[in-house]
Amino acid sequence: MKTKNEKAIRTMCYAKRTVCCFLFCVLLLLTAFGAKASFACAAERMSLRVGYTSMENFLARDGEGHYSGIAYEYLEGLASYIGAELEYLPGFQQQNEERLQNGSIDMFIEPDHSFEWLMQGKPFYTDPAVLLQNTAGFQRVMLGEGVGVLCLNENAGALTDRMRSGLTEMTKINPFYRLSLEKKYYQNQTLPLMLTEEERAYLQQKKVLYAMASPGQPPYTWFDGIIHRGVVADIMRQIEKDLDIRIQVLPETDQGSMMEHLAAGDIDLVTDFFTDYNWARAHNADITFPYLSLSYVPVTRRDRTLPDHPTVACPRSHYYVRDYIEKHYLPGQLRYYNTIEDCLDAVERGKADLTMVKSITLQDYIYQNGFYNLYTSGNVLFSHQVSMAVSYQADPLLVRILNKEIAHLDQQKIKSIISREVYQSQNRETLRSLIYRNPVGTVIFLSVIFATVLLVLLFWMRMRRRHNQELYRQAHVIEDIGMYNLRWFRRELPRALAQYQEDREAGRLFLMVLSAQHISFLKEIYHAGSFRESIMNLIRKVRAENDWLLIDAMTSDLFSLIVLCRRPDGMSMKQAAAKVAHDARICVFNGTPTSVRYHIGLCAIPPKGDIHTDTWVDNAFSAHNETMANRQPVGVYDYAMQNSILRQKQMESLMEKALAKGEFKVYLQAKYNIDAQSVCAAESLVRWASPELGFLMPGQFIGLFEHNGFIVQLDYYMLEQVCQYQKNRLEHGQITVPISVNQSGMHIKEENYLERMQAIADKYHLPSGLIDLELTETAFIDFSTQDARRDASRIVTSLKKMGYRLSMDDFCTGYSSIAMLQNLPMDVMKIDRSMLLAAETSPRALTILRHVVELGHSLDMRVLVEGIETRPQELLLLGIDCHYGQGFLFAKPMPADEFSEFLEHHTTEGRILP
Ligand code: C2E
Ligand code: CA
Ligand code: CA
Repeated sequence: MKTKNEKAIRTMCYAKRTVCCFLFCVLLLLTAFGAKASFACAAERMSLRVGYTSMENFLARDGEGHYSGIAYEYLEGLASYIGAELEYLPGFQQQNEERLQNGSIDMFIEPDHSFEWLMQGKPFYTDPAVLLQNTAGFQRVMLGEGVGVLCLNENAGALTDRMRSGLTEMTKINPFYRLSLEKKYYQNQTLPLMLTEEERAYLQQKKVLYAMASPGQPPYTWFDGIIHRGVVADIMRQIEKDLDIRIQVLPETDQGSMMEHLAAGDIDLVTDFFTDYNWARAHNADITFPYLSLSYVPVTRRDRTLPDHPTVACPRSHYYVRDYIEKHYLPGQLRYYNTIEDCLDAVERGKADLTMVKSITLQDYIYQNGFYNLYTSGNVLFSHQVSMAVSYQADPLLVRILNKEIAHLDQQKIKSIISREVYQSQNRETLRSLIYRNPVGTVIFLSVIFATVLLVLLFWMRMRRRHNQELYRQAHVIEDIGMYNLRWFRRELPRALAQYQEDREAGRLFLMVLSAQHISFLKEIYHAGSFRESIMNLIRKVRAENDWLLIDAMTSDLFSLIVLCRRPDGMSMKQAAAKVAHDARICVFNGTPTSVRYHIGLCAIPPKGDIHTDTWVDNAFSAHNETMANRQPVGVYDYAMQNSILRQKQMESLMEKALAKGEFKVYLQAKYNIDAQSVCAAESLVRWASPELGFLMPGQFIGLFEHNGFIVQLDYYMLEQVCQYQKNRLEHGQITVPISVNQSGMHIKEENYLERMQAIADKYHLPSGLIDLELTETAFIDFSTQDARRDASRIVTSLKKMGYRLSMDDFCTGYSSIAMLQNLPMDVMKIDRSMLLAAETSPRALTILRHVVELGHSLDMRVLVEGIETRPQELLLLGIDCHYGQGFLFAKPMPADEFSEFLEHHTTEGRILP
C-alpha cells in the first residue's frame, strides 16, 4: 500500500531529478566554456541499488521513510567515500540473492549475526565462511563485526574493488567509526545473564557479600547513618536483585581505612574502585569490568583568578590524585587533606586555589556545606571508570560472576539512576542553600517574619504591661474606696523615707494608725456604699487640711488608716494626732453630721540608723491596739508600750498552761439589798495567780484574751467553777444566792454556744436561776441589724429556758441600751458605775438615772447599780427607788471560800433569791 509519505518522497525524487537535469545542462555548458574539471565529479556520482532484509538496529525504514541501523549508517558512510548514492530495496535473503543474480540490485547486505547470537547466549561468531550457505556466484565484502557482509555479483569485479578500497580508506581515516556505531546501537542492549552451574552453586552457598563503599560523596556514594546510599548503592541493589544475593555494605567514614580492609581481605569487595589494574594489585584485589564512568571538573573560587602555579587540594587515598593530579602538578603545589569536603573547604577559605571533584557530586557539596563561593568552569579535566574490586581472598568465580552481571546491567537504567540521584540530592536542600538560591525572596520573607515578630512582641509587651498594671492594682488598691492597701504602704514606705530623708534626719517623721471608735457599729447601721463614701469624704477633707500627712493607706477590712506624717512645726506627735482627730471629729453619714472619736497609735521613725519599715509599721499598729485595749484616744509606741507588748506575749505563752493548772481563781463580790444590807447575789470575777507574772487583775489580761479568743475558754472555765461551787453548797445544804458569771461578746459569735451552755446546764443540774449570765449590750451590737436582733433575742430566750438568769451588764455605757431592752427579755439591769458618779454631781444625770431605774422596773427587771463606795451613794440610790447594789462599800471581790463565810453572816434573805 502506498502511503502519503511514499508519494511525498517520490515527488521529492522527481524534483531532485529535475534539478539534476538542470545542473547537467549547466555542466555541459560550463564544459563547453572550459570550466574546471572538478565539477565533472557530480556527474560521475553513481546510483547503487542495495537489497536488505529489514531488521531493527541493522537496517530498517520507519513509517516516515527514514532509515536507521548500524548497517545503514555504515553503508552511507562508505557511499560517501566511493561517491555513490544508495537506493535500498527490502527483501528476504532468497529474494536478494535472486535479484542480485538477475541484476535488479547491485548488491545486498547480510547481517553479521554476532550480536544477535550473543543475545541468545551463542558463542561469538568468528568464521566468515559460515556466513553464507550458498556462496556460488557472489563476492563478499566484510564490513566488520556487528555491521555485516556486503554481497555483490561475482561479475561486478570493478564495483567490488571500489567498495573494498573505499572501505580501506574510510577505516584508515576513522578506525573507530564502526566501534562508535556499535556503541550507539548495541550499548543499550542488555546481555542475558548466563551463569554456569558452578557459578550458581557458588552464589547459593555465598548468599551475602561483605563490601565497603567510598563515603561522603553524595549523590555518588555516601552513608545516611549506617545505610549506604547514592548511585553506587542503587547499582548494588540492582546487582543484588539480579544475582539474588545480599551485598552487605559496611559503613565506612574513611577512604584510606576502606582500602586497608580490602588489602587485608577483611571484605569481599569494594563497590566503587578506580578501574586501574595497578591500583587493584596494590590492594590485593581483582577488578571487574567498569560499570560506570565519572568525569572530574576543576573547582576554584568565584572571586579569584587562578594563578599560574595554583595550589591544588587533594584528598588522600583517592586514586585520581595519583593518576591525574600528581602527574600534572609539581609536588610543591599539592596540599593533602583527608576528605573531598576538606579540599573544597580549603579552596573556599583560600588555603588552596584549586581542587578537582566528580561533576555529579559538586552541587551537593556546595549546597550541603554552604560553599557558595566555589565555582566550576564545567570543563571536564579527566574521566575515569569505576569497577568493583574483589579481594584476592574471594573465590575467583566471584569476579567472573560480577563481570557477567556488569555486562548484563542495563546502561539506560544506570543513566536514570544517576539522574534520579542527582535530582534527589537537589531536593536535599539545606536552609542555607535555599536562602542562597532565593536571596530576594529570603530578604522579603525574613522582613515579614521580623515585622510579625516585632508586632507580636510589641503587642505582647503592651498586654503584659497592662496585665502587670492590673495585677499591681489588684494587689495594692482597695477596689471599693480606691485607696491603697497596707501591702502598698509597706512597699512604698522605703521610697517615701528616701524622699523625705531631711525630715527624717530632723526627727520629724512618724507613723500614725487611726481607727474610728465603734467603727463596726457605724458600719452596720449605715448602708455600705454611703458609709464608704462618707469615710472617703472625711479622709479627703483631712488630707486637704493637713499637708503634713504624706502618704496613707487603708487596711483591707476598712478598719484602720495608716499615715506617714511629718510633724508640723511647734507640735508634738501627740498634738499632731489630736489635730487629726479634731479635724475628723464630725463625719457626715447620709447627710447627718455624726460625732466620731478615734483610737490613734503613733510610732516615731528614728532619725538615724538602718531602715526597718516593717517593724515601724508593726509598732504603729501595736500602739494602736494598745490604745484600743486601754480605751485611750492616743498611744505612742515607746519603751513602756514595748514592755507591755512583751508582757502580753508572755501572757499568751502562759495562758493555756495557767488554765490547765488552775491558776485562774474565782473571786466573788456580793450584790446586796441596800435596805437590808444583806447579800442577795454575787458576781464572779476572775483573778490570775501566776507564778511567773504575779497576781493579775482582769484589766491586765481580759482585753488580750478577748483579742486572741482565749476568753471563750476562760469563761467556760469560770462558769463551770461557779456551777461546781453552787452544786457543792447545795449538796452541803448551805445557803445559796444567784452567782453571775461574765460572758464575753465572743460567745454570741460562737457556733455551738447554745449547745455548750445546754451541756453545762445538764451536767450540774442546778435549780433555775442560781446561775446568772452577765452580758453587755456590745455583745449584741454586731447583731443590730433586724436579723441579728431576732437572733439575739432567740439566744436570750434559749438561755433562759435552760435555767440561766440574765443580766444586762454595764448598762448606760453604750449607744443602744434602751433599744436593746425592748427585744431582750433580761432579768437584771446592772447600771454602770459611771452613771452613779455622774448622778452624784449632775442633777440632769440624776434625773436620767431615776428614769432608767423606773424603766427597768417597768420592764419587770431587777435594777442594780455597780460601784457603790460611799454611804451617800447608797442613800442617793434609795432616793430614786433603787434598792440593789454592788460595791466596795458593802464587799470587795474575795476568794470563793471567804465569800462562803461572808455569806453565812450577811444574808437574811431566803436560800434562793428570785
Ligand atoms: P465588770 O463586769 O463591770 O465587773 C465589776 C468590776 O467593778 C470589777 O472589777 C469589780 O472589782 C469592780 N468593782 C466592784 N465594786 C467596785 C467599786 O465600788 N468601785 C470600783 N471602782 N470598782 C468596783 P474587776 O474585777 O477588775 O473586773 C473588771 C472587768 O473584767 C469586769 O467588769 C468584767 O468586765 C471583766 N471580767 C472579770 N472577770 C471576768 C470573767 O470571768 N469573764 C469575763 N468575760 N470578764 C470578766
Ligand atoms: Ca460584770
Ligand atoms: Ca459591770
